[in-house]
Amino acid sequence: MARYRQTEAENGQGMFLMVSLKEQLLPETFEYMLDEIINTKIDTSIFDKKYKNDKTGASAIPPKALLKLIIYGYSKGHKSSREIWELSRNNIIAKALTGDMNVHWTTIADFISSNSDEFKEIFVDVLAYCNDLGLIGVETFAIDGLRLPSNASMSLTGTKEQLEKRLGVYQRMAQKHLERHQRKDSNGELDKNTEKHFMERQKKLSRQIDKTSKFLKTMKKKEGGRGQEIKSNVTDNESAMIHSPSGYIQGYIGLAVSDRKEQIIVSAEAFGSANEGVHLHEMLSQSEKNVKKTSGEEVWEKNKKTFLADKNYFSEENLKMCDEFGLDAVIPDSQDKRRFGDNKEKLYEVEDFKYNKNEDHYECPWGKILLYKGEDDLDGCEVKYYRASVKDCRICPLYSKCIRSKKDQCTIDKGKSLVVRKSNEHGSYCLRMRKKLETEKYKELYGQRIQVIEPVFANISYCKGLNRFTLRGKEKVNGQWQLYCIVHNLGKCLKGFNIIKNSA
Ligand code: SF4
Repeated sequence: MARYRQTEAENGQGMFLMVSLKEQLLPETFEYMLDEIINTKIDTSIFDKKYKNDKTGASAIPPKALLKLIIYGYSKGHKSSREIWELSRNNIIAKALTGDMNVHWTTIADFISSNSDEFKEIFVDVLAYCNDLGLIGVETFAIDGLRLPSNASMSLTGTKEQLEKRLGVYQRMAQKHLERHQRKDSNGELDKNTEKHFMERQKKLSRQIDKTSKFLKTMKKKEGGRGQEIKSNVTDNESAMIHSPSGYIQGYIGLAVSDRKEQIIVSAEAFGSANEGVHLHEMLSQSEKNVKKTSGEEVWEKNKKTFLADKNYFSEENLKMCDEFGLDAVIPDSQDKRRFGDNKEKLYEVEDFKYNKNEDHYECPWGKILLYKGEDDLDGCEVKYYRASVKDCRICPLYSKCIRSKKDQCTIDKGKSLVVRKSNEHGSYCLRMRKKLETEKYKELYGQRIQVIEPVFANISYCKGLNRFTLRGKEKVNGQWQLYCIVHNLGKCLKGFNIIKNSA
């Protein structure tokens, strides 16, 4: 009968293996590059001031090890601190990156949530490396935002009045729950399970009541652009209710400005705001500062730069701002669809009406007079109203080119109303932009927007799995967003890094 060898492992015996951690990082891989870049190109001394253990206390985990571990974890789709901790215990590459340090999840969570400013510096160091590899063109930039939910409860969102009502509901629920329990108790219907369930439910309700009433005591109403009250959130009041492709979410918008050449992110910031357009100045200043620091001031000044953004950024202020930053902006009008009638024909615009300064009235393309009807404030912008006579419009042959209405011409009850706002005035930035976007050159340029910015968000959300921010508070969420943008930029460096390594 044949006899075969048996190993000790088959008998359930453990065995020691010699592992060289360094050799686990294989050349030409992301982790190999990450290890080398963090060791040689990134200045982590910025974290030193946070540690006060020079004389007493235990030695801390080096920030380089933490950075490598978190970036590696994010690049593999692990976004929570516990998942990254799990990785550091079970994954040999994560062990090699940290030098087999035991990094607890609380250390990871604390590092991510308390170093938002430091991550901005790391972001610039990585950007400088991207520039060394020739990945930044400094010619065309595009901006957009990724709308993601955060660690905030959607059910605890509302205006002051709504939250007060919600508090009342919780209090009534707690009272009814208690009464039901007392009834069952007096009828002798309580068993261990019911008692346990009651305690858990009562605890949960008291927590909600405490949290909401504490919040209401110190709550300051948030105001929207038109001075109206906007909803606050009890769990994270810096987050906002945002409309996203999957409906309304309570969270943040992660904004990014990307360079066209290799879709490198040149600036990134997360905002708890539903309107991304109002943050353009911050994003442009950050982009200018970062590009000047990494590519050089003369490159920024010398290059003719195009800036692409979607209609969320269209406003007189934003277009003026782009001009001041020396950018050739291409931003379509948010009201563009309203400029087309029911039959898809382009409607007359303000410039098709003749203004009579002496009489302060307009003359329409059919030669009829539109009289001044008053002024108002629309979305923070002063507007003037002029109106044509309904009798003229009912019989006008140019009606379909002038009025966007589903009603029959003969049944309309008001004449054409002309709204003249700052953005419609002759010489305004908005008007110039509309004219620009009627030309083939700018239509084609705007068509490039998707290629410049969307791959960035596809990579971060789909490939890296960022489908929600796991933290609370703008600063912490911003730290997480910066780290994901660093992961994206590092991923873009791999090809260039390998070429340099192989040719060395
Ligand atoms: S619809 Fe009214 S405002 Fe417009 S062109 Fe005709 S008459 Fe003038």
